Amino acid sequence: MEFKDFNFKDELMQAINKAGFTEPSPIQKDAIPIVLSGKDIVAQAQTGTGKTAAFGLPILQNLRRDGSVEALVIVPTRELAMQVSDELFKFGKFLDIKTATVYGGTSYSRQIKHAENASIIIATPGRLLDLLKNEQITINPRFIVLDEADEMLDMGFLEDIKNIFKFMPKERQTLLFSATMPEPIKDLARKILIEPEFVTVTKKDMTNTNIVQSYYVVEEYERDDALMRLFDFKNPTKSIVFCKMKRDVDRLATYLVSQGYSAKALHGDLEQRQREEVIRAFKASTIEVLVATDVAARGLDVSDVSHVFNYQLPFDSEPYVHRIGRTGRGGKTGAAVSIVTPSEFRSLQKIQANIGSMMEAKVVPTIDDVKSKNHTGFMDNIKNQVVDPAVCNIIDSLKEEFDLSTIAYKLATILTEKDQVKGRNKIGKSHQDIAALIERLKNDRGGNGSRGRSRGPRRDNDRGPRRDSDRGPRRDGDSRPPRNDSGASRPRRDGESRPPRRDGDSRPPRPRGEGGSSRRG
Ligand code: ADP
Ligand code: MG
Repeated sequence: MEFKDFNFKDELMQAINKAGFTEPSPIQKDAIPIVLSGKDIVAQAQTGTGKTAAFGLPILQNLRRDGSVEALVIVPTRELAMQVSDELFKFGKFLDIKTATVYGGTSYSRQIKHAENASIIIATPGRLLDLLKNEQITINPRFIVLDEADEMLDMGFLEDIKNIFKFMPKERQTLLFSATMPEPIKDLARKILIEPEFVTVTKKDMTNTNIVQSYYVVEEYERDDALMRLFDFKNPTKSIVFCKMKRDVDRLATYLVSQGYSAKALHGDLEQRQREEVIRAFKASTIEVLVATDVAARGLDVSDVSHVFNYQLPFDSEPYVHRIGRTGRGGKTGAAVSIVTPSEFRSLQKIQANIGSMMEAKVVPTIDDVKSKNHTGFMDNIKNQVVDPAVCNIIDSLKEEFDLSTIAYKLATILTEKDQVKGRNKIGKSHQDIAALIERLKNDRGGNGSRGRSRGPRRDNDRGPRRDSDRGPRRDGDSRPPRNDSGASRPRRDGESRPPRRDGDSRPPRPRGEGGSSRRG
């Protein structure tokens, strides 16, 4: 099925082509015909699967363009309101459709003026209800969309939403989109939708197959070191690191910056203006690492996030699905990496069983692993380097004292010294340790030291512990072309004063003094 099979207007097709969409995503294939037919719909599909266009395109197709507010899209956060507005504006551009956003934290008057002149309003529940109650706007939209409904539930907007519908016309088409379908959302759907069609992208499709999921087991005090080692090894171009709590977000972001990484914190305590600034910088790649809480990163659509790191596991599988959905968006591949402690191991297995997908157990790379990976890139650099005639004099002078290979060895050492990898060589648990952990959990569950009931998906250790070598040559990051700077432009930790650790860990001090002459950070 192609977009042209929906018989969209030319102006709409033109915008779809311009956006670079070639084929509708599964949820779009299922939902668009239903929305076009005028029926109510409850649609469930994982984040990043194109739900915005799934309701946006058919609504745009059916707008009368009569100068009234014809569609209302309710979303959980201000960021999402802006994103959805941008996306709908993009698709409606050639149809001359105006969109407007309504959300808290900014002036009422300007929003009201814009809203009255738009065909589509994208609003967060609180501010919208305010305006409706105070009769500052009166609208009779024919289309009402509840987007990311489960997140609105999590954020406590359910009552606001029910109240908003008291102001809405009875004659309307109502569309509910959500990544997950908790009971209160189904309940809401029964109350405000009329004989809806249900569309669910199956569980197998739920786990976005573009996202490679893995986990590493470490002790609590090793989390920071493991995260930085994984940064050094995987060279993420853009990543989001999730923590459970705001204070962890602040501490970790500050610490990463002190270690030379380009990181910023995003959480609910920031001023609206600061949040927008951080998100803008992240989108523009001015910062490479966003450290965030679940709530702050709701619905965030940054198209080129290469890695999502769970610095800590979330409490449940729903936030896990939302978190990892920040990568692998729009058909791109992504990696979801979880750092877990033995005490989080049970949650990890629960999440795996719930989402019905396997995460691969991995071992934190050693310093040598990182080095040998960097060296490959380094050799490529040398091969591709064009010689600057100005350096000939330097080499000629050196040749009076050393032979050419000695000069080459020395040069290579100077250059690679800059990429020194800090920290202990070995971080976290081995495959054997992980297998033992899994076995112990099984025994706990089965009781009496039996092998336990078999439940949930098959686990790795049903076949004995997995080794890297069982998987053939593919390693994380191999799929990306080597960086032509061998990571040299990437800020690195420079081994300078490490802030005191909170966890009072008593491990021996890190080796120091191996830093090279050129320091960055
Ligand atoms: P969701 O709401 O399901 O989380 P979005 O609507 O935010 O997902 O879409 C995720 C990303 O995928 C966006 O950047 C969007 O532009 C892109 N996208 C959506 N549909 C398609 C498609 N058919 N082809 C290519 N990219 C798409
Ligand atoms: Mg969405």
